[in-house]
Formats: sequence, C-alpha cells, structure tokens
Amino acid sequence: MLNMPSPSSAVLARRETIASDLRQLLGDDELLITSANELKGYETDGLACYRTVPMLVALAETTEQVAAVLKYCNDNGVPVMARGAGTSLAGGALPQLDTVVLGLSKMNEILDVNTENKTAVVQAGVTNKNISVAVDDLGLFYAPDPSSQIACTIGGNVAMNSGGAHCLKYGVTTNHILGVKFVTMDGEIVEIGGQAYDLPGYDLLGMIVGAEGQLGVVTEVTVRLMDKPEAARPLLAGFDSALDAGACVAAIMATGRTPVAIEFMDRPAILACERFTGAGYPVEAQALLIIEVEGSEAEIAEELAFVEGMARDHGAISLRVAEDFASAENIWKGRKSAFGAIGQISPDYLCMDGTIPVTKLPDVLEQIYAIGARFGFEIANIFHAGDGNMHPLIMYDSHRPGVLDEVEACGAEILKVCVDAGGCITGEHGVGIEKRDHMPLMFSPAELNQMKEIKRQFDPQWLLNGGKVFPLEEDGVPAGQVVPGRAAA
Ligand SMILES: Cc1cc2nc3c(=O)[nH]c(=O)nc-3n(C[C@H](O)[C@H](O)[C@H](O)COP(=O)(O)OP(=O)(O)OC[C@H]3O[C@@H](n4cnc5c(N)ncnc54)[C@H](O)[C@@H]3O)c2cc1C
Repeated sequence: MLNMPSPSSAVLARRETIASDLRQLLGDDELLITSANELKGYETDGLACYRTVPMLVALAETTEQVAAVLKYCNDNGVPVMARGAGTSLAGGALPQLDTVVLGLSKMNEILDVNTENKTAVVQAGVTNKNISVAVDDLGLFYAPDPSSQIACTIGGNVAMNSGGAHCLKYGVTTNHILGVKFVTMDGEIVEIGGQAYDLPGYDLLGMIVGAEGQLGVVTEVTVRLMDKPEAARPLLAGFDSALDAGACVAAIMATGRTPVAIEFMDRPAILACERFTGAGYPVEAQALLIIEVEGSEAEIAEELAFVEGMARDHGAISLRVAEDFASAENIWKGRKSAFGAIGQISPDYLCMDGTIPVTKLPDVLEQIYAIGARFGFEIANIFHAGDGNMHPLIMYDSHRPGVLDEVEACGAEILKVCVDAGGCITGEHGVGIEKRDHMPLMFSPAELNQMKEIKRQFDPQWLLNGGKVFPLEEDGVPAGQVVPGRAAA
C-alpha cells in the first residue's frame, strides 16, 4: 500500500479561516465547496483504490481566481492541487486531507480558433473531445485521443502528456501544444509559447507538458489542429494466440509503414468489450488487433491490402474491414469502452501502463501472463500496441483483505519486466502516486535530484500536488525535500 505524506495538523486546524479567506478571494460562495457530502466527490480519481477527502474545493472560473488561490496557498503554507475531470489512472488527482483542490472544470470555453494557423486557444477545463467537435465543421481535429476523451480535460492532458490510439501516427500531447497560460505558485500569470511553432530560449513549454501539475497550473492552452483525413477505415484481425498477434504488430512496425493506429486486445478483453458494446469483435479469437489506415480511397485500399497480408502471414484466423462509417464507429466504441467493460466482469482492476519496444511484445506478453498466473490474478491486456504502450489490467476483488498489496506487487513485477525489456514504467498515464515508488527503477538518485531541483524552483515549499512522482522517505516527505510550512506542524 502506498502512503501519502502526513497531513499537516496546523493547516487542518486553520480550515475555517482558510475557507473564509478563499470564499472572499473567489468572490462567490458557490465556488467554494466545504460540505462533507460534496467534498466526497473529489476524494479519488481513476485510481479508485485510493481515496482521501480533501480539506476544501475551490472552483475557478478565471485565471485571476487561479492566481489568487495559488498565491494565498503559497503565502499561507497550504497544500493545493489542480484537478480537471479526475480521470487520472495514476492517482495524479488524489488529494490529501489538508489539500485545497483547485477545480478547473468550469473553465470550459473555446476562446479562439485560427483557421489560417490551424490552432485553437481553449481554457484548461475544455474536454479533449470537445476541441475536435468544435472544429469538425472546419475539416479540422485535435489529434491526441485518450480513450477517456469525452471526460478528460486538456489541462489534465497537458499535465500527463496524454496519448491515445491514434498517437501512433500523430504523436502525443506534447507534439500538439504550442502554448499555455500558466500560473505559478506565487500567483504570477505567464504566457509560455503561443501561435508560433518554436520559440527561442529554454523550452519551458516542453518542461510543463508532462510535469503532472507539479510546477504550476495551466489555465489556457493553444493547441495545433490537424486536417481531417479524407477517410479512415479500421480492420479487425483475430488470432489464435496473443503471441501471434504481438508478432504481427512487431512485423508491421519493422516495415516502416505506420498505420494510424494498432490496438491490441486479448481474449478476456475481447469477450468483455463484445458483451458491453456488441462491436462485432471475433469472440472465437484469443487476441484481436484493430488496425486503422487512412487517406484517399486508393491509399486505404493499398494499406489495407498490405496490413491484411501481414496479418495472414502471422496466422490471422479472421479478418474484417469496417463496412461503413457506423461499423467503424462501433469498432472504436468497443475499444474506447474497454475499461468500463472490464469493470463489468471484475469488481476491481488495476491498470498498468508500461511501454516496451514493439519487437519485445510477444516475449513480454508471455512474461505478463506468467506473472499473473503466479500471483493468481487474471490479467486482461488492452493496449496501444503500435507504440508498445501496454495496459495489462490486473483484475481483483478489493473485498479480500490484503489483496491490494498483492496486486501492487504483481504490477511492480510487470513494470520491471517492461523496464528490463528496454521500456519504461509509464507510456501515457503518468507517475502520480501509483508509480512513484518505481521511479528508482529508471532514474538514479542524481537524476531524480535534477527533477526535484526544478520542482523546488517553481514551488520551494513543495505545496503543489505533493506526494506524487517522487518516492517518499520514511517520514512521508520526498527525499531531499524542504517543507518549511509543514515541518512546523
Ligand atoms: C477509462 C479511461 C481511459 C483512459 N484512457 C487514456 C488513454 O487512452 N491515454 C491516456 O494518456 N490516458 C488515459 N486515461 C487517463 C486520463 O484520462 C488522462 O491522464 C487525462 O489526461 C487526465 O485528465 P483529467 O482532466 O481527468 O485530469 P485529472 O485526473 O483531474 O488530473 C490529472 C493530473 O493533472 C493535473 N492537472 C489537471 N488539470 C491541470 C491544469 N489545468 N494545470 C496543471 N495541472 C493539472 C492534476 O493535478 C493531476 O496531477 C484514461 C482514463 C480513464 C478513466
């Protein structure tokens, strides 16, 4: 079980004063949540096995309110944490008992669309999907597409450098962000980047994307928009074994021809998704690849012929190309509902997020199944196979005492296999609290210290989204961290 830093009793004792000060700063009583019932709605995120009801929730409607709340917390030694939609699978949005959660979901306006530059400026609380919906009529879209895209916010995507099925061809969030409006812990509002594709000076934008909300709070984002392809078509390829499907992915990628997406599901995942959505998946198969190609009709025909040939060469037992737009939508609906579908067949699951070189897929899959069998857990595998981003879902029942420790030990072994295979502990979900203690698998103390130095420059008191990303020491404080406001508690 993971621990969080001990809450500061000094901060908790000032709760009423802090609430009254924040109410005044926000200028609207409705924007401060204090009641136990409503606070409970903010106790967890997509990593639902961890829960802590926060001290208070402040809902910001403007950048100035964000700045005022951060400055207040900084001046008064109060822990604070940004929250978008709370879909983080790594516990990134898990609060602490003494935390003010700064909710950004009310900042959900699309401020500007520039069709010449193909950019949009949006507030941080706009959902990922709504950006594409807003520019659909213009023949444009926002490319990174996390499966949670109908709920997750662009601010959360920036914080976690999120990916998605179509990032195989298009790249992840960092490749599509041109600028942010960013508020520092001392309440300063800064613009980083903008409409241009590259700016001189240090790449601060590159540092903020993927910093897991630990350096400051993003309130506006300038995103790149892409031209919608003429058409796109997914193909379903069923295989007799997960290893054959894995080998097929590695072989396709080795040719240098990159489909727009290659998604993998093993048998437990196929059955769960088919039951959940009726997407027309081959229920007789042990493994399924969804391979999408796009372009003109001629390009699609050529790419499909190539992909079908590769699938046959690797023993595909079934091949089906989406007949029309509706069946293509249905195929993707099945994939994007996969986590919900697994939730229907297992009371609980822990979603891992290791990345490996695609050539290692067959070998790593075999090791994952062996680890699951040794621990006695069924594991469903659903993942972005083209870029080697694996999501083994370890299924368990949290009612069994002690089971979470076993699940986490099982997950830790899987991540170690990924790292040993030349990969890393997170492909897109971020570190959060979930993978915090695995960071030393990848980084030396000196390397972690470099990151901590950056954190200290932005947040010397370590008040913003603490307890995440870096392993805790025994006293509950990240190694090398100085927390004056909290040490006195
Ligand atoms: C069913 C499901 C499917 C998913 N599929 C994918 C997937 O395909 N690819 C993928 O990458 N992820 C996926 N995720 C994970 C999750 O959706 C992403 O990490 C997403 O980017 C989180 O966005 P959010 O708005 O919910 O952020 P939250 O969960 O609210 O916050 C996540 C982190 O971002 C920080 N943060 C949020 N907003 C801001 C801001 N404005 N400024 C600074 N920091 C901020 C928070 O402090 C926190 O640390 C999935 C999750 C679920 C539940």
